Amino acid sequence: MDDCLFCKISRGEIPCRKVYEDDEVLAFHDIRPAARVHFLIIPKQHIESMLSVEPAHAALMGKLMTLVPQLAREQGLGEGFKVNINTGRAGGQEVFHLHLHVFGGGPAAA
Ligand code: AMP
Ligand code: ZN
Repeated sequence: MDDCLFCKISRGEIPCRKVYEDDEVLAFHDIRPAARVHFLIIPKQHIESMLSVEPAHAALMGKLMTLVPQLAREQGLGEGFKVNINTGRAGGQEVFHLHLHVFGGGPAAA
């Protein structure tokens, strides 16, 4: 997707503060953190939202989910955190490339 913000980030065309990367997945800090630690996990493949997820995505979705505790611990959230997937306009989604929000650790720094 040429004009998708998160595709551009995953191609390295827009910078991000990287948390994790492999051939299928990228994680980076949210630019407007809602908590002291707030990062996003995205598939590199352009999937618009959870509404577009199909059985063929099962392995990829499993990978995204199993990365959550690993990356959360690495970012200092071993005591617990929240995971949020805003889905569709009615679900508060603003960037239409599937992403998991992982956040916690108290209020964001002012
Ligand atoms: P959502 O409402 O779930 O679509 O959330 C999109 C999230 O992407 C918001 O929390 C934004 O702060 C975040 N965001 C937007 N642009 C960037 C960017 N260039 N780098 C990192 N995070 C971003
Ligand atoms: Zn995209």
